[in-house]
Amino acid sequence: MTGPSSLSRPRERCPMLIETGDLEAPATVLEGSHDADICIVGGGYLGLWTAIELQRAEPNMSIAVVEADICGGGASGRNSGMALAYWPKIQALVHKCGVNQALWLCEESVRAIDDIELFGKSHGIDLEFTRTGWLWGATCRRQEGRWVPILEVLSGHGKEPFRVLDGGDVAAMVEAPGFHCGVYDATAATIQPAKLARGLRQVALDAGVQIFEHSPMARLRRTLPAVVCTPRGQVRAARVILAMNAWSLALPELRRGIFVITSDDAITEPATPFLEQRRWLGGPIVTDSGVFVSGYRPTRDGRIVGGVTGGAIGFGSLRRQRFEGPTPRVGDIAAAFRRSFGGHASVRFVASWRGPIDRTRSGLPVFGQLPKQPNVLFGYGFSGNGIVGSRIGSKILASLALERNDAWATSGLVSDVDRWMPPEPIRFIGAHMVRSAVRHRDHADQEDRDIGPIARMLASQAPGGIVTTRSA
Ligand SMILES: Cc1cc2nc3c(=O)[nH]c(=O)nc-3n(C[C@H](O)[C@H](O)[C@H](O)COP(=O)(O)OP(=O)(O)OC[C@H]3O[C@@H](n4cnc5c(N)ncnc54)[C@H](O)[C@@H]3O)c2cc1C
Repeated sequence: MTGPSSLSRPRERCPMLIETGDLEAPATVLEGSHDADICIVGGGYLGLWTAIELQRAEPNMSIAVVEADICGGGASGRNSGMALAYWPKIQALVHKCGVNQALWLCEESVRAIDDIELFGKSHGIDLEFTRTGWLWGATCRRQEGRWVPILEVLSGHGKEPFRVLDGGDVAAMVEAPGFHCGVYDATAATIQPAKLARGLRQVALDAGVQIFEHSPMARLRRTLPAVVCTPRGQVRAARVILAMNAWSLALPELRRGIFVITSDDAITEPATPFLEQRRWLGGPIVTDSGVFVSGYRPTRDGRIVGGVTGGAIGFGSLRRQRFEGPTPRVGDIAAAFRRSFGGHASVRFVASWRGPIDRTRSGLPVFGQLPKQPNVLFGYGFSGNGIVGSRIGSKILASLALERNDAWATSGLVSDVDRWMPPEPIRFIGAHMVRSAVRHRDHADQEDRDIGPIARMLASQAPGGIVTTRSA
């Protein structure tokens, strides 16, 4: 199982976390033996939302969170801050959960965005929440209409969350000449991601949750009660909830359910004149329709955050630092930006970061109990869409932990792990082959040319992401 060294983080924190000004907050390290009703491993969005949900439902319950680093030190403190609803996952949801559940989960994902706004307002935390909407567009002929099958399924069920935009409509919204056309979802919003992570930490503490940081779980004793062991202490708990994101690779029961690959982000220097000139100040999240998607958003203070997916792949568990620190892909981020905003788009990306994405085959998260271990619950697989997914997931995990028989506990997202990833080293080799094929395909699409049948077959093996039409 994971040891402390494998989770040590570089000194160079993501600027999003540094900007919170909250990193020196006193942290308690787990020492000695403790008892709790529920112990949550992982202090990201999922672990913290779940802790708050549980503590509110059962104020007398003792809830402990055990975090290897600081809360928000994982993906939650360093994502792109784009909160997107589940509409582009409708096909995969229908396949997995049936039509009624799928539509309900999509509606709940919209409510989750409202929830995040309300969370900030009601706790006086400035999340930089901005209801920007999302422009999902095409930067080449072959990307045009990739949204059509999704819109058809939605309209077949009476839902029309996207407005279809031609080139003129796009230009009226934001001057991004690389986008030929697209669709727009007004429900999407942007946040400063680390402010949400650190805000959740504070609210959880205020609610009475015990948070242990710099306390990596080195071993999980699968007993009754279960025991979460760290280098200097342990928590015995009737229930354990694993909310470890990509680090779930350390658990044999969860390892084969996800493929882990980096997402790489960068931020510009202040660019208000550029944003004004492009009518983009306070404007929408823009993403292209590549299989490895790239996307951009303005920050509230006039900078631009951009990201590209499909980066580094690790071998085995996340023992190396390939998922930490600045990204070597700033050039790719700037190139994709120029593709969207024109070759002379003159903004400079001045800081960068990266982190792991836990991609399931379907692009949908999964929640459940470890096989033969009903007192250990887990949730993971947000596939790059975890701001909204973790809010939904926290309701599911809280209901499961409290043994409620409600819509959350019986949701279609509660299932066994789909053990689709092969063991190492086949996993590592295969993942590189698929990644190369997807990059090749995205590149060929930009140049309006076909790829060969083998590359096409390999590219078709890519797991689902924020958009997924997969039925497995
Ligand atoms: C660069 C990047 C950009 C992204 N952009 C977006 C976006 O724009 N929109 C969006 O919705 N999603 C985005 N995501 C995905 C999103 O950030 C995640 O899905 C979300 O943060 C997942 O929350 P979590 O709580 O499951 O994981 P995390 O925040 O990673 O939390 C898991 C925690 O578990 C801890 N942990 C791991 N192992 C152990 C152990 N053994 N013991 C104790 N603790 C442990 C980790 O340190 C970590 O803090 C992005 C991700 C990245 C990396």
